[in-house]
Amino acid sequence: MLSNEEIVETIELTSKLLELHGEDEVRIKTYNNAAYNLDKFPGNLASLDFGQLVQIQGIGKMMAGKIIELINTNKLKELEELLAMTPKGVLDMFRIKGLGVKKIKILWKDFDYTSLEDLQMACKNGIIAKIKGFGEKTQAGILESLIFLKAQQGKLRMDKALVLADKIIERLKKHFIKVAHAGQIRRQSEVVECLTFIAAFQEELPTFSDSGFIQDKTISSPFNWRGKFAEFSIPIEIKFVSLDDFSKKQFIYTAHPDHLKQRNSDNKTLYTIAHGCNGNEPDFEEKVYAKFGVPFIIPEMRENNNAFEWITKNKNEDLINWNSLKGILHNHSTYSDGKHSLEEMASYCKSLGFEYLGIADHSQTASYANGLLITKVQQQHQEIEQLNKKLSIDKPFRIFKGIESDILGDGSLDYPDEILASFDFIVASIHSNLSMNSTKATERLIKAIENPYTTILGHPSGRLLLSRQGYPFDYPTVIDCCAENQVVIEINASPYRLDLDWRWIEYALEKNVMLSINPDAHEMQGYFDMHFGVAVARKGGLVKKMTLNAYSASEFELYLQERKQKKGIN
Ligand SMILES: [Zn+2]
Ligand SMILES: [Zn+2]
Repeated sequence: MLSNEEIVETIELTSKLLELHGEDEVRIKTYNNAAYNLDKFPGNLASLDFGQLVQIQGIGKMMAGKIIELINTNKLKELEELLAMTPKGVLDMFRIKGLGVKKIKILWKDFDYTSLEDLQMACKNGIIAKIKGFGEKTQAGILESLIFLKAQQGKLRMDKALVLADKIIERLKKHFIKVAHAGQIRRQSEVVECLTFIAAFQEELPTFSDSGFIQDKTISSPFNWRGKFAEFSIPIEIKFVSLDDFSKKQFIYTAHPDHLKQRNSDNKTLYTIAHGCNGNEPDFEEKVYAKFGVPFIIPEMRENNNAFEWITKNKNEDLINWNSLKGILHNHSTYSDGKHSLEEMASYCKSLGFEYLGIADHSQTASYANGLLITKVQQQHQEIEQLNKKLSIDKPFRIFKGIESDILGDGSLDYPDEILASFDFIVASIHSNLSMNSTKATERLIKAIENPYTTILGHPSGRLLLSRQGYPFDYPTVIDCCAENQVVIEINASPYRLDLDWRWIEYALEKNVMLSINPDAHEMQGYFDMHFGVAVARKGGLVKKMTLNAYSASEFELYLQERKQKKGIN
């Protein structure tokens, strides 16, 4: 069944291509409008019939028919025709930051660019800057984006990689007696560059052939299948192993090579020790680490040498996990750009067993996201007070009043102090003017962190994995500043972001800075993104006592109170 996201993306792409091909403006608007409204629809679009579809704002009979066609056939004839008329290189241009339909149309129709390679060459030679309406700045932006995109080719975000990897596992099960994930999937990497699998045979290696798998014979060997799967460009690696060696091989192909190179007091590497252990015992991995002379290290942390130091100072039981999370902070509702109402968001949060919800809709300057004007803030606070009574009748539950305040260009927050003071907590995030150098970004962040009302620094780098690099800033300076000002740093758990990068968790903990695993949910289902956040937090060694949303509701309330007192703002 098609997801809402897939339906919206298809409609959106159709609207863009209609514009690119100079079609009728009313038609373009109809598609555009439909995509906007469908994106906001809270239910499951694929389960609706014609009559229900036309009830949605902005969906007329023609559009409802198109959506039904899409749901029933997984295709849209109109889009297929447009795609057939568009060169692939031109379609790829939609992924370039800062290039809209109008500019792409000029590049293609007026200047005949149909591949990213030609476009890149033209940028390098300064040709694009000379086109009317482009200029040096646009050219530099296109070039930077092209270089970044090239480096991301064949990689997948964690969420997409997991879905694909599970699909492949199902296929492999038809051919092998035991199969498992290894490599970056098992290590829960935020971006996956290669999918690695272990596939066991009993006595003799069977000849593996399956129409979904496309082997690259030039880089394969008898026990090491390499290639691709279906239409996906990410490299796939399948290690064929005898059942007797299954655990050993899974261990070796899970860890990063740097992790395996670590030496113990007898000067033996972890790899040597693993190699010498008996290959298919259920607690193989525990035994390897015991022989090496350290406690067990979880798969997520097997990236480098840092884990060996971490394990001497901490216990695995202290690591954050889903069950230790008590509340969900940084969420959006229909007050700003969320899909579900405040009550729906809160009731669902409660039904999942959490003690509290921290709502943090967008602030007033964020007009693109329907940010809250002051009157709306007051209205929301009243509703929260009513809901807090209503939702606590059977068992305690609390909504904390928060806001995701834009960090404005000069680093200030987005409301006057008396309004800022009316919130329980404030997530301060940068959403605009993202092209800054490191000095400017660092100054802007520091000003926001020093604001006594800032409780949490939201998605610190502004990155979107595989599509936007994020602005550079001086991490140690910013983290030190959070330590001085008792500001918590968010691990934004959306698989698009996973920002703070887990590689900085160790430094934050050293400085005694707390972290908060926030889903930045724009709909109820968004809460489950915290699984991705937990995964990367564990990679970075985040412990429960340093996780803000592992506090119980009363601990969290006390934390906020004491902090406000200290800052003199209560
Ligand atoms: Zn944000
Ligand atoms: Zn947000």
